[in-house]
Amino acid sequence: VIELRHVEKHFGDLHVLRDINLKVSRGEVLVVIGPSGSGKSTMCRTINRLETIDSGEILIEGKPLPAEGRELAAMRAELGMVFQSFNLFAHKTILENVTLGPIDVLGMKREDAEKRAMELLARVGVAEQAAKVPAQLSGGQQQRVAIARSLAMNPKAMMFDEPTSALDPEMINEVLDVMVELARAGMTMVVVTHEMNFARRVADRVVFMADGQIVEEGAPDEFFDHPATQRARDFLDSIK
Ligand code: ATP
Ligand code: MG
Repeated sequence: VIELRHVEKHFGDLHVLRDINLKVSRGEVLVVIGPSGSGKSTMCRTINRLETIDSGEILIEGKPLPAEGRELAAMRAELGMVFQSFNLFAHKTILENVTLGPIDVLGMKREDAEKRAMELLARVGVAEQAAKVPAQLSGGQQQRVAIARSLAMNPKAMMFDEPTSALDPEMINEVLDVMVELARAGMTMVVVTHEMNFARRVADRVVFMADGQIVEEGAPDEFFDHPATQRARDFLDSIK
């Protein structure tokens, strides 16, 4: 579904992505871990073209990422993205937050969009909050709304960039549970996270990044129990 080939990216003198090669297959859950500043968010953002790349190629379903315009917008609609900050529209209700994209971008009828939104809000466990505005919800509830909002666009894949790191500890699991359910339902997912238990339980593959490079990748048990590089061992020790 997603393929990066020899992707390079600089911010001025800083070489943030170095020869990144990555393939995410349909239904696969890829977890990306690594130290702060290693380029994880930048890599996620290049996949949506929220960041441009200096060289290399990004293919979505075998096709090069469109540079701009309507094709880019259509492609972005196919890749759901959930960030650390929930980015909900503060002055719209939860229901409106979830129906806006389907109505404006997909051209759905309001009635159909609302029906589907309520199904999705129920799926993430916040249906009873539909008439409220985001500030009336907890962080964990808001993040689950953000996930429902992405799902409403029928994405081919979902990307999560540290979706739980802004949350109070007691709310982390309610968001992770939704992500586990999504993974079980077969969603293709790229997840940047520091939640190692989640990675071990849910990931099909773990990618370890450091200094803009993919240093290691492999099955989660293999990676966590027998990291091949000193860099990965140091990182895993540091977060224990
Ligand atoms: P974290 O775990 O802290 O989220 P990360 O692995 O996601 O880190 P990135 O956010 O991708 O790291 O950042 C990689 C490097 O690029 C960092 O050194 C960061 O300071 C730098 N960087 C990120 N965005 C920009 C930008 N827009 N302009 C300049 N430098 C940037
Ligand atoms: Mg980041």
